[in-house]
Amino acid sequence: MAKHIVRPFITSRIPCDSSIFTYLNNIGQMIMTPVIAWYIEGPGEKILVDTGISAEVCKPYWPGAEDVMPLEEALKSVQLAPEDIDIIIHSHLHFDHTGGNSMCKNATLVVQEEELETATSGIYSHIPGQNYYPELYEGQKMEIVKGDQEIVDGVRVILTPGHTPGCQSVAIDTANGTAIIPGFCCTENTFEPPCIFLIQRNSINSNPISRGRTEDGCISASQKRDR
Ligand SMILES: [Zn+2]
Repeated sequence: MAKHIVRPFITSRIPCDSSIFTYLNNIGQMIMTPVIAWYIEGPGEKILVDTGISAEVCKPYWPGAEDVMPLEEALKSVQLAPEDIDIIIHSHLHFDHTGGNSMCKNATLVVQEEELETATSGIYSHIPGQNYYPELYEGQKMEIVKGDQEIVDGVRVILTPGHTPGCQSVAIDTANGTAIIPGFCCTENTFEPPCIFLIQRNSINSNPISRGRTEDGCISASQKRDR
């Protein structure tokens, strides 16, 4: 079984309301979210998982992005040019995952069938943060997959719908075991949300969750687990 090295490249950061990652807790608290392209270094094909986006490309879609290391510069650090990339596995087709595609002219995109159907259906086009912009990947070769599938030796995709209907994760065999790049957009707080929901202090509430409230009137995920 081929072993690979996973190299994350933070292409940019985009401002987001943190509540979109934490079940609407902390509405109005802005965070800069890293936008990552992952290079999968292995013995054969040169593979990216998603292509991130540069501040310039991002501008028409989402204001306020800041460059960290745009894809072309990142690939230079591993002695590659965008044209050298053979395969781009797309966790999903949102703009912040497809922004570097046009540079990778020789790549074949690996996309779940349901994701492509969703992206071209137009039903999500008007929901903020759920925008698909086909011009970022139109005309590129595509390999459409359905469900879990091996892409090359040691690299396989797993259908993990949730963030989008056709979202997929990528499992990579490395010298240290299997690495998983999850397809959904999240932060640490998605798994340890600061509050489950706000509870009125001094309120009479028989809901067991209210018994774990903090001084702030909130309950943390760890508190909930410990009870
Ligand atoms: Zn997304």
